[in-house]
Amino acid sequence: MTSELHQLGVAALAAQLRAKTLSSVEAARHFLARAQAHRHLGAFLAIDEEATLAQARAQDALIARGAGGPLAGVPIAHKDVFVTRDFVTTAASRMLAGYRSPFDATIVSQLAQAGCVSLGKLNCDEFAMGGASENSGVAPIGFDAPQPVRNPWDAARVPGGSSGGSSAAVAARLAPAATGSDTGGSIRQPAGFCGVTGIKPTYGRASRYGMIAYASSLDQAGALGRSAHDCALVLSAMCGPDVMHDATSVDRPAEDYTQALEQPLAGLRIGVPEEFFGEGLAPDVRAAIDAALAEYEKLGARRVAISLPRTRLAVPVYYILSPAEASSNLSRFDGVRYGHRARQYADLLDMYQKSRAEGFGEEVKRRIMIGTYVLSEGYYDAYYLQAQKIRRLIADDFQQAFLQCDVIAGPVAPTVAPAIGSQSDPVQSYLADAYTLPASLAGLPGLSHPVGTGAHGMPVGLQLIANHFQEGRLLNAAHRFQQATDFHLRTPEGY
Ligand code: GLN
Repeated sequence: MTSELHQLGVAALAAQLRAKTLSSVEAARHFLARAQAHRHLGAFLAIDEEATLAQARAQDALIARGAGGPLAGVPIAHKDVFVTRDFVTTAASRMLAGYRSPFDATIVSQLAQAGCVSLGKLNCDEFAMGGASENSGVAPIGFDAPQPVRNPWDAARVPGGSSGGSSAAVAARLAPAATGSDTGGSIRQPAGFCGVTGIKPTYGRASRYGMIAYASSLDQAGALGRSAHDCALVLSAMCGPDVMHDATSVDRPAEDYTQALEQPLAGLRIGVPEEFFGEGLAPDVRAAIDAALAEYEKLGARRVAISLPRTRLAVPVYYILSPAEASSNLSRFDGVRYGHRARQYADLLDMYQKSRAEGFGEEVKRRIMIGTYVLSEGYYDAYYLQAQKIRRLIADDFQQAFLQCDVIAGPVAPTVAPAIGSQSDPVQSYLADAYTLPASLAGLPGLSHPVGTGAHGMPVGLQLIANHFQEGRLLNAAHRFQQATDFHLRTPEGY
């Protein structure tokens, strides 16, 4: 049976662990062995067998006493933007090479509290900036230089990003579930590219404490798993108030998202925004999305044509606001308080300059420069302030739409996962975020689940967006869809 262990998701593993037909140590060993066996994917940046097994033994002891949490003994892996005591945390940046945090991020400790055992840390774009996991500055396990993460469906293609280590690990069954962070699509898009389910909750729903900041007004932690049910289990453990540590944490009790999973979809109004189906959407993706919408109608949902008129402004607005916030957040990496310090320098200024020049990768530097520019005197009003105003209008568009529908559905990305190295123009990559950015700017929860196969046999994801705090509704819709279909069960060959 153990050789098939990795085929089990979170719910099935939790049940076996509870029934004591499986120990947490066995589960941890099995997944650690897979992480090693498939390290060519570049998904893991850090593992520490002893640390993982110690956590697993502690869970086995709790289970033996009947004192285990809801996810007692279930292995999970964390995106490397969440700080952890047991593993080095780098945010995939040379700047933080070797950094060990004195504390665990809130979501990491909440998941541990629920019983999860950490398998290690997952590769991603440096400081979560990117959409392909090609911007990693740290060597994954088994390599001595940084590597792009590979998509298990086709190793020559990207797994999406920035949570590409998370999506690749879940798709390749190296972990039953993973955490991710989503600032402008970084959970939803990689979930789509790798054929797994991913959910970003409402802004403020999960704590940002211990999540290395990219753009604080957008950053949100969430979960990736093989099914909506698994995501519901993980998300229920991750969300909830943390008002002592995170000023934007919403003071609203945690929920059990598994409660509403089975609710029938009869009468659900699915808004389909015309702006998500215009020029730029590849025909293979469009076909899979159309088929998925038809499937939802079979399940009793009703399609409603809606409009999100400011959709095309989301890319320029996001790529002004997020670099602005990033340039401010990343100023702390000065070679003194945190991070890499150059070996040789003439004076203090030279030390700052060399440390930052050596520590940050190209995309991070690009965003620091854009951010500094749009925040500088004279440009602040023209760019930053203007973008803030349009951000509000984009949020208003959603509120108008939610008068007519319960959830909004559309593609998560305009194409299937592109080939590694094929996106050399940063602006082209930014444009590919057009469908995920609006919900981020509005602070709304979003989910992506696999709905078919597009060009080159690659998975296609459907994005669902709901109003604030309606995570349960998203998971319910995806769960009912998954009960009627088998897209989420498909496994890339060789895994
Ligand atoms: N691709 C987007 C970016 O590069 C989103 C990243 C994210 O959500 N962290 O900023």
